[in-house]
Amino acid sequence: MQCPICENTCLIPENGTGRCGMYTNNAGAQIEKYPDQYLVVVPSEIESMPMLHYHPGGTFLQVCTIGCNLKCGGCVSWVLTESVDSIRSALHPMGPDDVVARALADGCRGIMFCFNEPAVSFFTFKRLASRAREQGLLVGCASNACFTEQTFRELLQHIDFINIGIKGCTDETYARLGAASVAPVFRNLKLSIESGVATEVAAVYVRGKEDEVRETARRVASLSPDIPFQVMRFIPLATADRTDEPSVREAENLCREIGSLLRYVYLFNSPGTMHLNTRCPECGEIVVTRGFNGPMCSHVTDHRDNGTCVCGYRPPFIGTLEKDGGVPVLGYFGGYKTISSLESIQTVLAFLGERNPSVIASVLQNILETGFIKGLYERTKRIDSWLDTVDHYAELAGRIAEAKRLREYTERYVSLVIERTSGVDRPSVYFSLGHPLIAIFGDKFECNLVEIAGGQCVNREIERDDTPGMTIAVETVNRLDPEIILTTGALGYPQKDFHDVCVNSGMDVRAIRLGRIHSMSPYRSSGRPDWILGLLHMANIIHPELFSFDMKTLSDEFYREFLGATLGSGGRSRSIAHPRVLERQR
Ligand code: SF4
Repeated sequence: MQCPICENTCLIPENGTGRCGMYTNNAGAQIEKYPDQYLVVVPSEIESMPMLHYHPGGTFLQVCTIGCNLKCGGCVSWVLTESVDSIRSALHPMGPDDVVARALADGCRGIMFCFNEPAVSFFTFKRLASRAREQGLLVGCASNACFTEQTFRELLQHIDFINIGIKGCTDETYARLGAASVAPVFRNLKLSIESGVATEVAAVYVRGKEDEVRETARRVASLSPDIPFQVMRFIPLATADRTDEPSVREAENLCREIGSLLRYVYLFNSPGTMHLNTRCPECGEIVVTRGFNGPMCSHVTDHRDNGTCVCGYRPPFIGTLEKDGGVPVLGYFGGYKTISSLESIQTVLAFLGERNPSVIASVLQNILETGFIKGLYERTKRIDSWLDTVDHYAELAGRIAEAKRLREYTERYVSLVIERTSGVDRPSVYFSLGHPLIAIFGDKFECNLVEIAGGQCVNREIERDDTPGMTIAVETVNRLDPEIILTTGALGYPQKDFHDVCVNSGMDVRAIRLGRIHSMSPYRSSGRPDWILGLLHMANIIHPELFSFDMKTLSDEFYREFLGATLGSGGRSRSIAHPRVLERQR
């Protein structure tokens, strides 16, 4: 039988599956393999879908299943899209009534299907959408819009809003993802706009593919210059090449350029950028302020009275605007941070030597079902609780001996650094998350590492609320006058750009005058077990008179010991646990 849902139009053999692996052919009937089963169900802000002009700041129940109909290199959701059979046991059965009841109980305005492609769970999504709308909930989804025309028209009957992800504007680009042509995507985009469904566009920006973004913007603008246009600065996850990642500065330049075509252009995956804010197209004033909130995600931090500019113009927002809608924005649960958390668990398991997909899936299932994932943010702030968390995963996976070995290795080096820095002068250190004015929270893991490495982390002295992604005033940094600035160095600010932003923002501190601005790259300072290398790198930076760790030798030893390979080019990938990345390192 031929599947009518997406443009892959797979011929599904009897008892076989199509390309997405999510439908089977049972005596000529198309059957969903995992009906009414979800991987994640969590209330979240709509900006984590992301939608920016639709009920801004509103709380929606975010749901996803598994699987996809495209094969994009660097997929941010690779944990749940690439290997359906590996992750399927982590799915949780929930009928449409259960999901709707959850949305109502959590005070959600509606339900948004995101993280993976609704085409691969089309019948489940339709059932859910019908039930939700009967109960007065709004329904939407993020989609690559590779649906057939007939099915897309049907989808539009069931939704109120949609974010259409566009990967490029040429058939060649789509061929690399396994699709025949880009034409259906623009056809469906046009249909969506004509249908009255609130539509936003997310365009992927890969370095060197600027022309594809420009052309996409031109084609979107020809439909309406008021369509919110989200530029997704490419993050090289999964098997993607790091050189595909544009810098934030390059992405901002591109946004400025296409701003001449479209009135609302936004930039994602770029901490500290002003291009997440909504500016009034009439007078240029900021109407809505947003902050970076993890991959593909933003957060409303402020807005003018219901989105109306001082000049009286109101950009075409749909619904009222909210701020602090009641959903916790800190933490690792909600939005794509949920997916990043699942990847981080898989990464820890990889360091423990666990490669068996069914074991990995059962650990993820446990972490999701027991709610352990909700406490992850707090658990990974300190070394002792981080090690306990690793022990927990190890117990679930039967990798206790490996966790013990990792603990011993980690504690040995931590003790060594603590011992040598005991009683020494502690230079003041400011730690930024990529952008110089985004300060890492003072209670985070990175700040603990600074103090173990013999520094005094001034981030602890910064008074701020819990809003993530907010830039702090440059005067605050000037007042703290750190001797050293550290940056995670992995979020789109090359060293030169970082230094320029420091200087251009009016930062005047000892670290700049002393030339002591340092990137942690390529070492991690949180999350993955190789943060221990980050600590040693940090000790070299903060106390060069005490430490001269040979990072190359130590890195090779560490990765050989715990991943079974030295740090090759694959090891520098952000998705170190990806099966093909692991394979490449051998
Ligand atoms: S949804 Fe698309 S990929 Fe999946 S079976 Fe149908 S045509 Fe194939």
